Amino acid sequence: MKTKIQEQFEKLYGDGASLFASPGRVNLIGEHTDYNLGFVLPGAIDKAIYVAVKPNDGKVCRLHSVDYDETIEMDIHGEKPEKQWAQYIYGVANEMEKRGALIRPFDMVFGGDVPLGAGLSSSAALESAVGFALNTIYDLGFGREQLAKIGQMTEHNYVGVRCGIMDQFASLFGEAGHVIRLDCRSLEYKLEPFDPQGCKVVLFDTKVKHTLASSEYNVRRAQCEAGVAVVLRHVGGVESLRDVTMDMLDAYKGEMEEVVYRRCRYVIEENQRLLDACAALEKGDYVTFGQKMNGSHDGLSKDYEVSCAELDFLADVARTNSGVLGARMMGGGFGGCTINLVRAEAYADFLEEISDKFSHRFGQTPRIIEVNISQGAHRIA
Ligand code: ADP
Ligand code: MG
Repeated sequence: MKTKIQEQFEKLYGDGASLFASPGRVNLIGEHTDYNLGFVLPGAIDKAIYVAVKPNDGKVCRLHSVDYDETIEMDIHGEKPEKQWAQYIYGVANEMEKRGALIRPFDMVFGGDVPLGAGLSSSAALESAVGFALNTIYDLGFGREQLAKIGQMTEHNYVGVRCGIMDQFASLFGEAGHVIRLDCRSLEYKLEPFDPQGCKVVLFDTKVKHTLASSEYNVRRAQCEAGVAVVLRHVGGVESLRDVTMDMLDAYKGEMEEVVYRRCRYVIEENQRLLDACAALEKGDYVTFGQKMNGSHDGLSKDYEVSCAELDFLADVARTNSGVLGARMMGGGFGGCTINLVRAEAYADFLEEISDKFSHRFGQTPRIIEVNISQGAHRIA
């Protein structure tokens, strides 16, 4: 992939380009915890966006997307480009200028192998790769945390996606053999060892996206806020579910709807599960880690109710296979992927079992995406 990007650059714009990469990500545990100011546990993966870039002497940028086979010219001080892929580049450049940088025109060729829209955050990989590349070639001096913020604000202000910061954070801060325990309240992070010898991490993409996703997301946010409001009547200073313990929630359970109680319980338990899962990683105990993944799925499915038939089916099949240490839905829910931790010796049979059973039940095979936890944004050449 990276040589293809470089070759294409040479063909279109000549030699002398610098080459950069920034990866997609998975989230091992900690779902719907970000907007409740809890913890998430993402890791960068071995699928990335590659960017070849070089300043030019012209008045505008020349951009080529290898995967869409499209070329455009773009003035970062002119109108926002129509093509979505170019909006990410336009957004990053403009967010950088808002923060005092001067971005002179450049030529850029990019492409990658992060599956689009499958929940691996190809968009964050793109923003992070572009941000990291421009920061380096123009010596802008932004730190990785600022680059993550620039990527997040690109989504908010130029693409219209009001995302959190986990995806950009993982793409920029990832390291091989480690996942990132990110505190979404303080943005403090800690690298946790993740090197399950003899195991593989594999995703099954249901290829469905039920329309409930965005409306139900807003309902969940409101339900969490409702729970916080009840506790706040009794306990001063409570700002989010991060400040609420199970004891507090149980004490004031009678004042909230049963469904609000269950939503809040899930979030509080999920934060604790994540911390327990990290303690297991530090001991190299992947059996316990897998059980926490299973617990996460149960909570998302039964208490938070953001799963769907396809995801539950995949998680159920995984659970009955003794070679699987843990399996859970990943991402916002109502479709997308499950993430599975599987013993290598059981891997081939498990893939076959999942494909057979899923296609028998739903009429199509899930997409299989094997991932390795890898390095975050970096320069290649
Ligand atoms: P994801 O969950 O993968 O982040 P998004 O819808 O947020 O899905 O982002 C996908 C968008 O990001 C694409 O529509 C495209 O505009 C851009 N993108 C991602 N990967 C590439 C790529 N390899 N080439 C060009 N554009 C890409
Ligand atoms: Mg995205």
